[in-house]
Amino acid sequence: MRRPIVAGNWKMHGSRAENARLTEELLAGCPAQPRASAVVCPPFVYLQEVGRLLRDSAFSLGAQDVCADAQGAFTGEVSAAMLRDTGCEYVLVGHSERRLLYRESDQLIARKFAAALARGLKPILCVGEQLAEREAGRTQDVVARQLDVVLELSGAGALAQGVIAYEPVWAIGTGRNAAPEQAQEVHAFIRERIGARDARIAAATRLLYGGSVKAGNAAELFAMPDVDGGLIGGASLKADEFLAILAAAGA
Ligand code: PEP
Repeated sequence: MRRPIVAGNWKMHGSRAENARLTEELLAGCPAQPRASAVVCPPFVYLQEVGRLLRDSAFSLGAQDVCADAQGAFTGEVSAAMLRDTGCEYVLVGHSERRLLYRESDQLIARKFAAALARGLKPILCVGEQLAEREAGRTQDVVARQLDVVLELSGAGALAQGVIAYEPVWAIGTGRNAAPEQAQEVHAFIRERIGARDARIAAATRLLYGGSVKAGNAAELFAMPDVDGGLIGGASLKADEFLAILAAAGA
């Protein structure tokens, strides 16, 4: 049985005061032991503070990115060891905003995934096609390419500690979520592709859907057999929305 995960990606939003308000509301509204794992991913500079606010709660801490290298002269970068030291359990790698705006390659993302694992973090690998790729019928090719580079470098066994988030780029921040059947089709494809290497790992790997998930559509998305929760952007900044999504994942 796969325990669902709902992870909130706060992106470059918030302030100390706003984070304090949001975490207070999350703590007040969250059951002591939700059925789904709850994760929040604040910006780097707030990780320690948010971690302190959420200590001993049901929420785990995640970062939004990690350096592929372990340490050294990499100005502006943050290592996996530093994230662990700061209390992170999870880290996003390969978010489409990193792939597209910062030109992160599949190879770099695979190295980030490996670096996170090497330090005991649980990487959440984001994959997903752009609209033109979907319209050209290339969704599976794109997702397979993004996934295979990671599987080649780290092996399918590495997914025992990792999570995959399918996030169609056209659904992120647009208010237009994938239909549950569209999400299920790609999730089933991802599970099959992992299964071709290791059936046991494929059955156990948590596959999240991300892209305009809200309280109003979460339940139907999470009802799909291969959707094991969600990666949530905009709606994770509103405590009532995020808590309702968390509840939908545990229903
Ligand atoms: C995201 O950025 O990962 C995301 C899913 O954003 P949104 O929920 O706002 O579409």
